[in-house]
Amino acid sequence: QVKRSGKNAFRFFDPELNTRHRDRIALENDLRGAVARGELDLHYQPQVSLATRGIVGLEALLRWNHPGLGAIPPATFIQVAEEVGLISEISNWVLETACAQLARWQAEGVGAPRVSINLSACDFQRGDVVGRIRACLDRHGVAPSCLEVEITEGLMMDDTADIAAKVRALREAGISVAIDDFGTGYSALAYLQRFPVSTLKIDRSFVRDLEGPMTNPIISAITGIARGFDLDLVAEGVENLEQADALRALGCEVMQGYLFARPAPAGEVPGWLRQPERLFLGAGSADLQAA
Ligand code: C2E
Ligand code: MG
Ligand code: MG
Ligand code: MG
Repeated sequence: QVKRSGKNAFRFFDPELNTRHRDRIALENDLRGAVARGELDLHYQPQVSLATRGIVGLEALLRWNHPGLGAIPPATFIQVAEEVGLISEISNWVLETACAQLARWQAEGVGAPRVSINLSACDFQRGDVVGRIRACLDRHGVAPSCLEVEITEGLMMDDTADIAAKVRALREAGISVAIDDFGTGYSALAYLQRFPVSTLKIDRSFVRDLEGPMTNPIISAITGIARGFDLDLVAEGVENLEQADALRALGCEVMQGYLFARPAPAGEVPGWLRQPERLFLGAGSADLQAA
């Protein structure tokens, strides 16, 4: 139990670090039973097109309702799940839940658009992720075109033939693949030639800096890359009209963010699908409506 490394040993003399260490162990233990106890949930956030004023897709975002601590955001537990080997169980649950939900929306006739799920690099590094996804779609009778898988650039840095083959197999099966948080990793752009992804998601950190229709070298570069590789483009974290206007002026018209809707439980989705134009009311601008 006591760490051998001299560098880490001091934590046992630092009460704050010691507390953090115990919190972490408690979190791990609680996470172990979370799936079985039904504590996980998916919220959905629409991706809207300014051009069609419709919903292009929905991103499924994981929520953990901890019995004692309340809602725990994914940023605090996904990494723990990866480190302690729980991520594949969680990813399976996410896949299963998203497909079951898609099937339910289709059965209800609300016209389910595409759902994007976030997978971890670990999911691609071991096991037959493609087979699992295809089997799950089959089991629920959901078309592959209704699913998108979001991965991060870190995965492409591995640059193994195996991972490129998995991405290709997903695309060949008709499943979309998006690069999440695009531009925030350290990867070489060359990977775009070997990994046939379908979508780039502009990270919120780039969108945050936008004010009005001014030039923005990073976003211009990303829209250029998307055009060059013939990829779909989605901006995430769009919170205000200035950002939406600027993005559109820079060549990105599909957006996801609080300006349109916050992530919400599945029950909200049929209302969005029936009246997508209401998502633009919050945006409140004649400009956006005319897009
Ligand atoms: P992400 O995939 O980049 O998801 C976008 C995050 O931005 C979400 O945070 C979303 O709630 C938030 N967001 C959306 N619009 C806005 C906005 O206008 N303003 C601001 N400030 N934030 C906005 P969330 O749900 O806390 O998820 C955080 C990250 O956790 C996700 O980032 C993703 O990397 C990861 N994650 C979420 N669900 C899953 C999952 O099922 N599996 C895995 N492996 N990771 C997940
Ligand atoms: Mg994502
Ligand atoms: Mg993202
Ligand atoms: Mg992001």
